[in-house]
Amino acid sequence: MKKVDSHTHSEYSADGSVKISDMVSKAIEGGGKYLCITDHLDLDALQEYNNAPTGWTQLDLPAYERDLFSEKDKLDEFYLGFGIEAGYDENTSMEYKKIIDSKPFDAVINSVHFVEGYDVYFPDFFSGRHKNDAYRAYLKKVQKSLDVPYHYDIVGHIGYCVRNACYEDKIMHYEEFEDLLEPILKKIIELGKTLEVNTHHALCPNEEILKKYYAFGGRKISFGSDAHRGDVYKDFDKTVEMLKAIGFSGFTYFKRHKECFEKFD
Ligand SMILES: [Zn+2]
Ligand SMILES: [Zn+2]
Repeated sequence: MKKVDSHTHSEYSADGSVKISDMVSKAIEGGGKYLCITDHLDLDALQEYNNAPTGWTQLDLPAYERDLFSEKDKLDEFYLGFGIEAGYDENTSMEYKKIIDSKPFDAVINSVHFVEGYDVYFPDFFSGRHKNDAYRAYLKKVQKSLDVPYHYDIVGHIGYCVRNACYEDKIMHYEEFEDLLEPILKKIIELGKTLEVNTHHALCPNEEILKKYYAFGGRKISFGSDAHRGDVYKDFDKTVEMLKAIGFSGFTYFKRHKECFEKFD
């Protein structure tokens, strides 16, 4: 099989640093056939009640689009995708709809980063909170995010809050959060969306959750390295082995929101 990666960040993301052209070179060297850049479009971070990280800047969408399409023009077989990672917030739907409907995106990832005013990537969110309460608040927001009125293809990194959580056992165990995870997974299937398998830090969602998704009938999964430093296709081969053992047969990826499928060997 050829490698596909549906979640990566270039220098146009506030926390990215690598040029699109360099990411493409790495992807081609790494045996890939598809790479979607999904720079952060964080309307959530613009909300006053959300504490955006210091120095956080918004995506320059026209510059990003120009650069991406000029790189795409140089390519032949390799598919360079134009995407965004849309940070969910209750009050940003109409603005996202306008942007998403007006641009020729290949893929839109719907991700939750902010919960109760904090980006749950940072440990501040967890101080003085029990794991159960913190993870539940995150999952409730994920549940709400599935119903947005704008188009999205992929549900991003379920379990994102575990990355820097400060608990002795920070794993999001399925049984502990079954009352929220079960309806979330079933809703993703019902809506026909694709569940992302994100390998950036700890695997998100974890293996227990992926097994349940499969057991409920979920078959659409996308691969996302969430590369911010050019590390596209991170842990690709070992992730494929794990997914095959669960029963999955390939990755779904998107060209102009149309589903494509790359079958596992
Ligand atoms: Zn994200
Ligand atoms: Zn990301």
